[in-house]
Amino acid sequence: MNNKNKLLVLSFCTLALAGLAQTASASGYTQTRYPIVLTHGMLGFDSLLGVDYWYGIPAALRRDGAQVYVTEVSQLNTSELRGEELLAQVEEIVALSGQPKVNLIGHSHGGPTIRYVAAVRPDLVASVTSVGAPHKGSDVADLIRQIPEGSAGEAFVAGLTNAMGALINFLSGSSSTAPQDSLGSLESLNSEGAARFNAKYPQGIPTSECGEGAYQVNGVRYYSWSGTSPLTNPLDISDAMMGAGALAFDEANDGLVGRCSSHLGMVIRDNYRMNHLDEVNQVFGLTSLFETDPLSVYRQHANRLKTAGL
Ligand code: CA
Repeated sequence: MNNKNKLLVLSFCTLALAGLAQTASASGYTQTRYPIVLTHGMLGFDSLLGVDYWYGIPAALRRDGAQVYVTEVSQLNTSELRGEELLAQVEEIVALSGQPKVNLIGHSHGGPTIRYVAAVRPDLVASVTSVGAPHKGSDVADLIRQIPEGSAGEAFVAGLTNAMGALINFLSGSSSTAPQDSLGSLESLNSEGAARFNAKYPQGIPTSECGEGAYQVNGVRYYSWSGTSPLTNPLDISDAMMGAGALAFDEANDGLVGRCSSHLGMVIRDNYRMNHLDEVNQVFGLTSLFETDPLSVYRQHANRLKTAGL
């Protein structure tokens, strides 16, 4: 081989190595030590007629190394019952992945659900992250709860909501056989029910009205983030619903959950320009053009967990 050819081969090798190094660093960005487990909120699903609840989020996390599991629990039920369902799935994931723990991320009612698992089995949980979760209740649930108990109005709301839950359960091909219990679900999401739940499972809950909670309890790290912009994208038809929900509040909120109610453990940010559905990149990725892409927020968080050794 002449010198010119040697130089060419050497240059090629250097370029290839540089390329490999770049790929390796890029591919490790979301590579957490423990798998990431996503848990949906009220009326949630893993996939409905082929549309993912966590729109594009598992793929965005997996692209650079995270192992991601999407779980499904009852659409409508109490935090404890949903928590028991999730715990069984976490036990399966631990057995499948070969890792002793998981990083739990829960949206909306998924927040109290993952807190339950971390409270009863901290040995299986590396971290708990809630996104737009009503830890101190939702003013929307409080408003619905003001419908007199046992009245025709209550029966109507319960019947309608249960039917929606059953329909989603059917359309998503869910294997969950737990009954829909919309009153149980509302009970968990109004401020009185949330206060009772927090008294039993206080881990990571701020003791002040709008502060941060403990960053670590029983070896589990706690994090949260949320949005405060009910209307973010004129092309998204769900914005009208978020705008209507916002009317129930007299404080900053994402259309369903107030800013302070979303606080858990380390508050990463509580005022993203996002509504309750933008927080899971819905609908179809239609979110604010003037805010960080929700997918980037999840990727940054995976990197945060990785950096913390989780
Ligand atoms: Ca949206």
